[in-house]
Amino acid sequence: APAETPQVVIDAHGLPYLNSKLPVKKRVADLLSRMSLAEKTGQMTQAERGAVGTGADIAADDLGSLLSGGGSTPTPNTAEAWAKMIDSFQLRAQATRFQIPIVYGVDAVHGHNNLVGATVMPHNIGIGATRNPGLAQRTGAVTAAEVRATGIPWDFAPCLCVTRDERWGRSYESFGEDPALVESMETVVQGLQGARDGRDLKDDDRVLATAKHFVGDGGTAYGSSTTGTYTIDQGVTTATRAQLEAIHLAPYKSAVDRGVGTVMPSYSSLDVVGDGLGPVRMHARADMINGVLKKKLGFDGFVISDWNGIDQIPGDYASDVRTSVNAGVDMVMAPYAYKDFHAALVQEVRAGRVSEKRIDDAVSRILTQKFRLGLFEKPYADASGASKIGSAGHRAVARQAAAESQVLLKNLGSVLPLRKSQRVYVAGSNADDIGNQSGGWTVTWQGASGDITPGTTILEAMRGNSARLTYSKDASEPLTGYDVGVVVVGETPYAEGVGDVGNGHDLELSAADRAAVDKVCAAMKCAVLIVSGRPQLIGDRLGEIDALVASWLPGTEGDGVADVLYGKRAFTGRLPVTWPKSEAQLPINVGDAAYDPQFPYGWGLTTLTKVPEGGAATLVALGAAARAAERAGADDRGRALVGQARLIVQRKGITAAFAKPFADADHLLLTGHYGEAVRKLTEAYRAA
Ligand code: BGC
Repeated sequence: APAETPQVVIDAHGLPYLNSKLPVKKRVADLLSRMSLAEKTGQMTQAERGAVGTGADIAADDLGSLLSGGGSTPTPNTAEAWAKMIDSFQLRAQATRFQIPIVYGVDAVHGHNNLVGATVMPHNIGIGATRNPGLAQRTGAVTAAEVRATGIPWDFAPCLCVTRDERWGRSYESFGEDPALVESMETVVQGLQGARDGRDLKDDDRVLATAKHFVGDGGTAYGSSTTGTYTIDQGVTTATRAQLEAIHLAPYKSAVDRGVGTVMPSYSSLDVVGDGLGPVRMHARADMINGVLKKKLGFDGFVISDWNGIDQIPGDYASDVRTSVNAGVDMVMAPYAYKDFHAALVQEVRAGRVSEKRIDDAVSRILTQKFRLGLFEKPYADASGASKIGSAGHRAVARQAAAESQVLLKNLGSVLPLRKSQRVYVAGSNADDIGNQSGGWTVTWQGASGDITPGTTILEAMRGNSARLTYSKDASEPLTGYDVGVVVVGETPYAEGVGDVGNGHDLELSAADRAAVDKVCAAMKCAVLIVSGRPQLIGDRLGEIDALVASWLPGTEGDGVADVLYGKRAFTGRLPVTWPKSEAQLPINVGDAAYDPQFPYGWGLTTLTKVPEGGAATLVALGAAARAAERAGADDRGRALVGQARLIVQRKGITAAFAKPFADADHLLLTGHYGEAVRKLTEAYRAA
């Protein structure tokens, strides 16, 4: 077929905005002054790439942006195909009057998860468990490098959601339940965008980040739904202004300070106690987007709506368009109805219901980011980065993140770490499944079980460490004669609303998983690994399990899990969310008045054999735990804690004041939320 020949007159040659030496502000003002209304509103329109076919529509609608989103048409599956596809769209954008490049966005929420063969990081819940902001930053940098290498300059990540109820199916996209933890992990924004690490948005290994979903997405009440579709996802968050600020808004403050380029409003509604408005969709909340985000926090990037997010505002489409744009939404993700959106926006401006000033503000914000990204100078993919996709160096970062994300919840009799010479029996649905250990948002939106992308399963990684290993998924092989069993159980992939409890998923282990645990743990000493996006209910089974590990969704690098299982690295992860005893306890969060979880927020044992630099902090944490245990009195957890602390005290001769350093305790408790006790013990330690 003959190539399409675009019929446009390019006016751009030699104009000031094309001069990369001029300050961005001047370039934006120059370009804006030349644009027609339709060209401006086109910049505010984002379409799904499958909806624009060959790309001719980019010029026809002056489109500012394209995306491949979760609910999109299938995406290419090689790096070359991605780059080629995006370059072909950029080529079309170059055939518009002002040659304004499009900004293409994807959800790379744990590595370049759209691409088969990319390095898949642990999901955010695991990153939160690492408590390692520097590592979080490196995972962001790896993600950015792989995404940009395929010609994509924009990533709809990170989710700064503070998850308050694990029945929410997006809990795994959250760094945790504590706003301070979420805030500390936003170094990932720096990793993605390159600020303050010598890299810059216009470098070929950095991307524009999106803080999402503004604000209160993790605070929706179970059972609340304004659409009838979901029970908790996209529901209603009810909070006083003070609660909203302390819990859900806090992470946005620092993200804005770090210069995050874009922010996405949440599908959820916000019901501010006392404002008399009842639940209002976030896409319509001018008080929050214009008022808080842009004015109060000083956000100077642009606001991108969620996928058809404006459609959920009550009223007809014209009202959805003007309400959201007037509330401060700068670009609308209108995947398939983008022509309707564009036409409606032009109409609303002509009718005077959206001011030209508002349009100019929105377009200036969008163009500013395009200039910052260097897209006018370099719209096409830089193939030089493609060799790094899935490279050993990148996988090493993911492996470290997977290792540090593992949380050792229980370890009676030091079942872990395993030793090479032991005869190991491995079972369970998630031992040998790359898809399950990667979770949702992997290759496809919902993710899938099975061999969906190259990587190392937990079982494969264990085989490299064990001299004598037997694998029987359903534990049907004879169970006699083994030194230790490892049962890897948990969830299968899901994304967004389908992960709602009551919507096809619950927090109980499956019957097959329960059977595998029961069989193996009855026959031998056993460790159970839970590969899941959120806590699973262990209940009565805890008594029969010797060692328990929260593995979260570690991604493609199962070696990271094996590293801690076999003691190549110590377990150092700590719970990013409270681990409940039962569903009846939900929602449960640290700081609740009646707080009696299975394992508290911040809980995590370690297999460290040497007190590292900063040993004082570790020692202090142990002391704090012992104190907490005393307070906890006679319950099981309390007894276990006291027992463990005493054991170390006896073995190492640590005095009651914990004032003597010790060299090689093999079980320390890393828990740090007993504030006052920690403070006192720190002082005692320093004084000694
Ligand atoms: C999700 C967003 C995502 C968007 C594009 C929506 O359904 O809520 O997090 O960025 O789709 O895929």
